Amino acid sequence: MTAAAPIGRAKNIVLLGIGHTNAHVVKEWQTDPIPGCKLICISKFPTATYSGMLPGTLGRQFRDDEMRIDLKGLVDRAGAELVIAETSGLDLEGGELHFSDRPPLRFDALSIGVGSMPAGWQQHSGSPLMVPIKPMQTFLHRLDEHLRSATTEPASPLRVAIVGGGVSSVEIALCLQQRIKKGQDPFSPLTVQIFTSGRIAEGMRAASVRRIEKLLASRQIDVYSGQRVVGVGDRELETEDGNRHGADCVIWATGAVAPPVLRTLGLQTDGRGFIATGKTLQSLTDDRIFAVGDSGTVMESPSPKAGVYAVRQCPILWHNLRAFFNHSPMRSFEPQSDFLKLLNTGDGKALIEYGWLTAHARWCWRLKTWIDKRFVGEFQ
Ligand SMILES: Cc1cc2nc3c(=O)[nH]c(=O)nc-3n(C[C@H](O)[C@H](O)[C@H](O)COP(=O)(O)OP(=O)(O)OC[C@H]3O[C@@H](n4cnc5c(N)ncnc54)[C@H](O)[C@@H]3O)c2cc1C
Repeated sequence: MTAAAPIGRAKNIVLLGIGHTNAHVVKEWQTDPIPGCKLICISKFPTATYSGMLPGTLGRQFRDDEMRIDLKGLVDRAGAELVIAETSGLDLEGGELHFSDRPPLRFDALSIGVGSMPAGWQQHSGSPLMVPIKPMQTFLHRLDEHLRSATTEPASPLRVAIVGGGVSSVEIALCLQQRIKKGQDPFSPLTVQIFTSGRIAEGMRAASVRRIEKLLASRQIDVYSGQRVVGVGDRELETEDGNRHGADCVIWATGAVAPPVLRTLGLQTDGRGFIATGKTLQSLTDDRIFAVGDSGTVMESPSPKAGVYAVRQCPILWHNLRAFFNHSPMRSFEPQSDFLKLLNTGDGKALIEYGWLTAHARWCWRLKTWIDKRFVGEFQ
C-alpha cells in the first residue's frame, strides 16, 4: 500500500519513539532534509537515555546529563516538530496515528522504534519491591527513591535482587555495588544477588562467561542460575523451585519482550509480538510503516534485541525513507553475525569480547567510554 498525499501538501514522516535508529533520522535531517516532507517526532519523554552509559551513570562514573539526549534541542536543530505523547492506536486505512489526549496525526511514512520491555514485568508490577529497568529515562530516579525509602532490620544490609542474567544485569550489579563502595550514599551497605532462568551472560563465549562468573564471585554477588522468579511479594521473591529469598528491592532487567502497544496496531507481528518486517525494515502489512531497533523483527534474518543492531539499521532506515518518497531502490539490512562486546565492571575496567579475545582491563573501559561518548555526543 502506498498512499498518495494531495499535490502541494508536505508529506508527514512520523517517528514514533526516538531511540537509537529513529534519532539518527533526526540528526541527518539537520543537514539533509527530504524535500517536500515534514518530520514529526513522537516521544513519551522529553529526553532519550543511551543504555550503553546507564550502568556507568548508576556507578557514578558519568554525570546524569552525559547519558541523556535532550530531544527538544535535537529536534529543534533539525527544524522538525516534537510531540510528547503516547500513542493509543493506528488507523491504517486513514493513515493516522491516534492518541488518547490529542487529535490524530496523519502520516505518509511512519517509523516505529519504541524499543522493548523486560519480560514478565507486568506480572509482578503490583509488588512494592519492583523497580523495572524500563523506562530507562526514570530508572535511576526510581531506584534511588526506592533504596532511600527501603527499611531494613538495624545493622542488616539492604538486599538488592536483580532478575535477569543478561549482560546489562551483570553491569547493573557490578556498577551498583561499586557505587555503594564509594560511600557517598545514605543507604549503604547492600548485598546484590542475580536470579536468572537461564545462565549468566547468555550469548557470550564460554571463556567470557567464566571470567564474569569469577568476577561476580570475587565481589560476593551470588548468582542463582536456572531459577525462574515466579513471585515477588512485599519482602521476598519466590523461585520456581519453591524457595523464597529475602529482598528489599527487585531490579527487573529480564530479556526483551514486545511493548504491549505493538500488538494493538493491526500490523503483522512475529511470535513474540514484535512487528514483522522485510529486510528493508518495512512492515509486512503496510509498506508505509517501518519498524526498527528492538521493536521490529526482520523475519528472514532475526537478530538479538541489542542496541548494536539498532545502530546498524540507522543508515538503512535513512536511505529507505528517502527512497520511499523518490520511488528509488531500497537497501536491505543484513545483521552481522558477531559484534564487539564491552561490559562495564564498575571498577574503572571493562570486559571485552571480540572474536576469540576476552580481556578485563582498564584500556577496555577507556575504549568503551570513548565509543559511548562519541556515539551519544553526536546527538547532544
Ligand atoms: C541497562 C541496559 C544496558 C544495555 N547495554 C547495551 C549495550 O551495551 N549494547 C547493546 O547493544 N545493547 C544494550 N542494551 C540493549 C539496548 O538498550 C536496546 O537494544 C536498544 O535501546 C534498542 O534501541 P531502540 O531504539 O529500539 O529502543 P530504545 O533505545 O529503548 O528507544 C525507544 C524510545 O521510545 C520511547 N517510547 C517507548 N514507548 C513509546 C510510545 N508508546 N510512544 C512514544 N515513545 C515511546 C522510549 O521512551 C525510548 O526513548 C542495553 C539495555 C539495557 C536495559
